[in-house]
Amino acid sequence: MELSTQLIHTSNVKHESGAVTPPIVLSTTFERGEDGLSFPEGYIYSRYDNPNRHSLEQKLALMENSAACISFSSGLAAATAVFQSLKSGDHIVLPDDAYFSMYSILDHLFVNFGLTYSRVDLTNLEQLQASIQPATKLIWMETPSNPLLKVTDIEAVVAIAKQHNCFTLVDNTWATPYYTQPLEMGVDIVLHSTTKYLGGHSDILGGALMFRETNERYEFIKNVQKYGGAVPSPYDCWLLCRSLTTFTARMTVHSNNALQLAQYLEQHPKIEKVLYPGLASHPQHTVAKKQMKNGYSGMLSILVKGNRADVLKLAGQLQLFAHATSLGGVESLVEHRKSVEGDASPTPDNLLRVSVGLEHINDLVADFEQALQSV
Ligand SMILES: *Cc1c(COP(=O)(O)O)cnc(C)c1O
Repeated sequence: MELSTQLIHTSNVKHESGAVTPPIVLSTTFERGEDGLSFPEGYIYSRYDNPNRHSLEQKLALMENSAACISFSSGLAAATAVFQSLKSGDHIVLPDDAYFSMYSILDHLFVNFGLTYSRVDLTNLEQLQASIQPATKLIWMETPSNPLLKVTDIEAVVAIAKQHNCFTLVDNTWATPYYTQPLEMGVDIVLHSTTKYLGGHSDILGGALMFRETNERYEFIKNVQKYGGAVPSPYDCWLLCRSLTTFTARMTVHSNNALQLAQYLEQHPKIEKVLYPGLASHPQHTVAKKQMKNGYSGMLSILVKGNRADVLKLAGQLQLFAHATSLGGVESLVEHRKSVEGDASPTPDNLLRVSVGLEHINDLVADFEQALQSV
């Protein structure tokens, strides 16, 4: 069966009424069997597992063709769990253009735990080779990256990681499993902020890790979930399962809209550059074509001809694109990343990041048309 069918038809939570959509099971505790010892349904206490979370983890595991999924209450809780599985003295290679808070986790939470990291341009494999130390244990990828949309050649990085006995992780939040399947390329763990495309409506915070195999690291991270307790609530799991039933349909529109908007903006005289992996002008378009299928997802960044003030004015003039952080929802969003990341960030001052929503493409193009007239 194809993914879209499976996402609609797999649910292990059934109600005795015959309800077609699954119920939410809010109970935190579950009854023992008549023998006084066993738990006949497999549930004990809802931090360990509960029916809605079980259903969610099954669906997420399926989406990434993975052996198992562990869900969390946010994308960063999932990332933190991976860092917790490392040992004091270990070194991590992070992309130079990763989701900004990945550096913050290591700088603030792990500062006393002896983890070190390097920020490396993963589109430059020589730079990657040179950055690997004897202590390097993990190579972390994010592709396309945030906010420069750099595309990493996953298979090439996995080959280098194998030479050095490192495990690999791909933050697949932007590409989503509809466009990229990192585990099939030999990656060990996939990370998602389910807050974004998987949730899809800007109303759920969540995270998940999918594993190629259930090895020792998987067992350790399962314990981080169980004893650390940063788990999603039954309601969040139910809502996310609901969102997944429309996942492939939503992604098709996000991606088609993004490509058309990118093509329109690329030929506009007031735009210096459009960063979108689906454009032939993208520096890693060949890699993107090789490892992405179905399309190129819904995120793009634009460099506007002008300075910070011009760019902020443009963002303010847009009517359909809310000037707000985050991405992956039905509504289009635009954000000036440099203001968020701070002056030390290498992100260009004239860059706007665009999350292309599900509005009609003609309206999105018309909105940019009118807003660009004012700058
Ligand atoms: C949003 C995001 C995260 C963080 O996830 P939260 O759910 O906000 O904790 C991690 N990686 C990427 C690429 C993201 O876009």
